Amino acid sequence: MENLKSFLDKDIFKIVASAAREIGVDAYVIGGYVRDRIMDRETADIDIVAIGSGIELARKVAEKLGDNTRVNYFKNFGTAMLRHHETQMLVVEFVGARKESYSRDSRKPVVEDGTLEDDQNRRDFTINAMAISLQENDYGRLLDPFDGIGDIERKIIRTPLDPDITYSDDPLRMMRAIRFATQLGFTIEEHSFEAIHRNRERIKIVSGERVTDELNKIILADRPSYGFKALEKAGLLQIIFPEFVALKGAETVEGKGHKDNFLHTLQVLDNLSEHTGDLWLRWAAILHDIAKPATKRYDKKIGWTFHSHEFVGARMVPKIFKHMKLPMNEKMRYVQKLVLLHLRPIVLAQEEVTDSAIRRLLFEAGDDIDDLMILCEADITSKNSAKVRRYLKNFILVRRKLVEIEDKDRIRNFQPPVSGELIMETFGIQPCRDVGTIKNAIKDAIIEGIIPNEYEAAFGFMLEKGKELGLRPVGSRQ
Ligand code: ATP
Ligand code: MG
Repeated sequence: MENLKSFLDKDIFKIVASAAREIGVDAYVIGGYVRDRIMDRETADIDIVAIGSGIELARKVAEKLGDNTRVNYFKNFGTAMLRHHETQMLVVEFVGARKESYSRDSRKPVVEDGTLEDDQNRRDFTINAMAISLQENDYGRLLDPFDGIGDIERKIIRTPLDPDITYSDDPLRMMRAIRFATQLGFTIEEHSFEAIHRNRERIKIVSGERVTDELNKIILADRPSYGFKALEKAGLLQIIFPEFVALKGAETVEGKGHKDNFLHTLQVLDNLSEHTGDLWLRWAAILHDIAKPATKRYDKKIGWTFHSHEFVGARMVPKIFKHMKLPMNEKMRYVQKLVLLHLRPIVLAQEEVTDSAIRRLLFEAGDDIDDLMILCEADITSKNSAKVRRYLKNFILVRRKLVEIEDKDRIRNFQPPVSGELIMETFGIQPCRDVGTIKNAIKDAIIEGIIPNEYEAAFGFMLEKGKELGLRPVGSRQ
């Protein structure tokens, strides 16, 4: 078998090896780290399996590492997580080798101590079941009982044991299979894929948070559409995210069709992913047309319409976030805002680009304007390349104008040049509707280009507006 000594280039492996020798257990590097080193990928954390107590081994390693080491022990699971700060952040997880047996209604197994072989058998995929020995006599030897190396070469996701049992035991593995396939650009082996399809309903016993964790990793891959298509084909997407599957299909009436919004959205997501690694901007792409099925109408004269799908879509965002166990915080509001505004730049690019329209967009989008532009450009998926070129050209103009107008008028983080306090003081009034009316009128006047975004002009405008409302400045005589 291959010797991967050169892969054990971090000092930590030497330390784990000597700690293991001192307490008399065998230890192996296992799982993701081994896979990623063989594939030459960056990897975040290291998993160590001890043939004996993982907790004891972690304790010994921590003792050797001394300062800068923090260990969390999870006695119930027999695992420990060690963090070490030095030149780099290092996370090492320790676990005792185990054998698992599952009951029908839970993905949490009954666990007993086991051999290395038992431990490799319980791993989800062949490429995740490889181990490298840390014993002195065969330091660096690769233990690869299921030909994980071959599957890496063939680019295949395959379970070590019967896939029906593997997926049924812990249905989260179905999500993981698709996640790894998407991240690595692999294919799920045919029998495995069929087993996922057969066991799809079992995903319901997995907590929403865990499912969403995996979905988010798919979304963060280079080409997320690959994962979404696999999830749909496996029948999982229908269960975990039915609103998205509702986008599928293209209806034709009187010879007029509309585009398949499932495929369109995935293309937008892929396009956008070339420009951003931000999870929430990617979620905005996923949800930008989510209300198209709900707003779809056929009009004899104009064909298919999706009127107000941006408003209805923005209203759907909280419900989807809640049911997907995504955070109900400013991230959600950000996604909601982008869904709501996603048509605005394209409308601008279609028409003459007026300064006031640019100012209004800057005012509404604020600091999210750049993200909105990325979303909108990704949204151009027409097959007509002349049309795409024309839109993109107009977008260059819109972008240039955005910069120009922002430099001049500073609308992005709009601060009213005349405050509510000053309005109240000037007219000697208490907080009331008039204050809001005046403030709004000043803002609108700036956006419409009636006055510049400056104190003097705004103050003068305030006096005029106050007069219209029957207010008089304090100290004036009439
Ligand atoms: P990444 O860290 O990139 O997500 P990974 O392979 O390290 O990939 P982890 O979730 O960190 O994945 O798990 C570490 C290892 O534990 C895996 O490589 C695999 O061997 C095993 N493992 C994790 N989850 C499961 C599971 N649900 N069923 C079986 N084995 C699992
Ligand atoms: Mg890992």
